[in-house]
Amino acid sequence: MMISEHLNKIRASLPTGVNLCAVSKYHPAEMIQEAYDAGQRIFGESHVQELQQKQSALPTDIEWHFIGHLQTNKVKYIAPYIGLIHSVDSPRLLCEINKQALRHDRRISCLLQLHVAQEETKFGFAPEECLDYLRSHEYATLPGIRIAGIMCMATNTDDETRIRSDFHTAYTVFSQCIAEFPDLAPGMTIRSWGMSEDYNIAVIEGSNMVRIGSSIFGPRNY
Ligand SMILES: *Cc1c(COP(=O)(O)O)cnc(C)c1O
Repeated sequence: MMISEHLNKIRASLPTGVNLCAVSKYHPAEMIQEAYDAGQRIFGESHVQELQQKQSALPTDIEWHFIGHLQTNKVKYIAPYIGLIHSVDSPRLLCEINKQALRHDRRISCLLQLHVAQEETKFGFAPEECLDYLRSHEYATLPGIRIAGIMCMATNTDDETRIRSDFHTAYTVFSQCIAEFPDLAPGMTIRSWGMSEDYNIAVIEGSNMVRIGSSIFGPRNY
C-alpha cells in the first residue's frame, strides 16, 4: 500500500475530534511530502537536527510537533517554528521553552509528559509530580508557554489490560488538572496517547491526539 492509503485507512478509523500526528522520524522528506500531498499537515519528530533539516526543506504550512526527549540546550533551534512540544518532562525544560519562546515573541504550546508506564527508564512526570508542579503555579509566571494538555506512552507490552490502565491513569490525571486548575482548563485540551500498536485502545481511553508512525510510513531504519 502507498502512504496515502495507509493514511486514509487510519483517518477513517479515528472518531471525529481525534487528531493525527504522523510520526515521520527516521523517514526521508520525500515520504513526508507524499503524506502532505495526501492532506496530512501535522508531523511529529523526535530529533532536533533531523527536524531542522526537514523543516527547512518542506512546505511552511506543516505543523511540526516535537515528541522525543528534548535537551534544554536544543530548545533554541526549534523555538522559532515548533507547533507543539509533546514531551515536556521537567520544570527546567518548561523554563527554557518559555525563555526561547519569548525571544521569538511566541507562546509555545506544551504537553506535560506523564510517566505511567512500568518501565524504569521512561522520561516524564509521575502523576503526583505533575499535579504538584501545577499546584506550584510556576507555569503562571511563564508567559511564553501554554500548558495545552497531557502526553503519555503506555507500557511496551502485549498485555491490553496493562495498556488500558496506563491510558486510564493519564485520563484521570488530565481530568484532575482540569478540575483543580480552572485557569488552565480553557487551554488544556490535548490528550496525546496512542501509537501504531495501541491507538485503538488509546482512543477508547480518551485520547484525542494519536501519534502514529510505522503504520503510515512502514518500519524505520535506525
Ligand atoms: C516513535 C514514536 C511514536 C510512533 O511510534 P509507532 O509505533 O511507529 O507508531 C509515537 N510517540 C513517540 C513518543 C515516539 O517516539
